[in-house]
Amino acid sequence: MRVLVIGGNPAGMSAASRIKRKSPDTEVWVLEKTEEVSYGACGLPYYVAGINDDIDLIRIRKKAEFEASGIHVQLGREAVSADFRGKFVTARLSDGGEECYSYDKLVIASGSSPKAPPIPGIGLKNIFQLKTLLDAQGLKAHPDIDGMVQAIRQGDLQGITGRMENVLETVTVPAHPVIADLKGRMLESGAENSLMSGSGPTVFGIFSEEEKARAAYSRLREENLADRLFLTEPCRNAD
Ligand SMILES: Cc1cc2nc3c(=O)[nH]c(=O)nc-3n(C[C@H](O)[C@H](O)[C@H](O)COP(=O)(O)OP(=O)(O)OC[C@H]3O[C@@H](n4cnc5c(N)ncnc54)[C@H](O)[C@@H]3O)c2cc1C
Repeated sequence: MRVLVIGGNPAGMSAASRIKRKSPDTEVWVLEKTEEVSYGACGLPYYVAGINDDIDLIRIRKKAEFEASGIHVQLGREAVSADFRGKFVTARLSDGGEECYSYDKLVIASGSSPKAPPIPGIGLKNIFQLKTLLDAQGLKAHPDIDGMVQAIRQGDLQGITGRMENVLETVTVPAHPVIADLKGRMLESGAENSLMSGSGPTVFGIFSEEEKARAAYSRLREENLADRLFLTEPCRNAD
């Protein structure tokens, strides 16, 4: 008997482990599309918040430990189709190659995917989702300072606005939601990007068109969201 499990996180690895424990003669194979197996997503917020700085503590069991108990763990294999009559699954490898895995019983434990709400600015580089270890590492990564300096030197507006990041927003914005409101209004009014400065005393937006900046200024004045509002002189030439 061969059992094939798609997905190598809590559900998939619990199923694989239990099947192997209850029935040692059963061949158990796991296909996992990432290079990670069996971690506790519940620990991700603690890692992001800096309560735990060691991401390894979130990994529950390693591939080698599962293999030592007789489970075949195939990382970097994304199940892309299943033939339920022929009883085989096709997996895509990261290099574009494909492999086929036959089975007698199939367990699908492929979990869920985050859904991004359609709000303005959602595609910007400093907007994150938190579902995987990789997401958490990306979220904690330091802003691209060197790239920002280079973009400023080159007068590259998109390079500047695409690199605007402030890791403290993850702490300050939940405590002071008005920051998110201010950023949202500026993005809705056409800002290239908007950011909180320092630990949060100021929120600013960068606009490529003067009219959009004026519209944002008027809107924020009307809504009375900020104590003080400034509309700066346009920068017409980066030189
Ligand atoms: C930030 C965060 C905090 C959480 N905190 C808690 C908490 O405190 N308490 C709690 O009970 N729950 C919490 N959860 C929820 C919990 O982590 C999930 O319920 C759990 O991870 C679900 O496990 P799963 O194996 O079903 O799915 P997933 O964890 O989504 O795992 C699915 C696996 O399948 C793989 N996969 C997907 N498609 C394919 C494919 N086609 N081929 C091969 N592999 C594939 C994925 O890469 C993934 O590794 C939290 C989740 C998050 C994101």
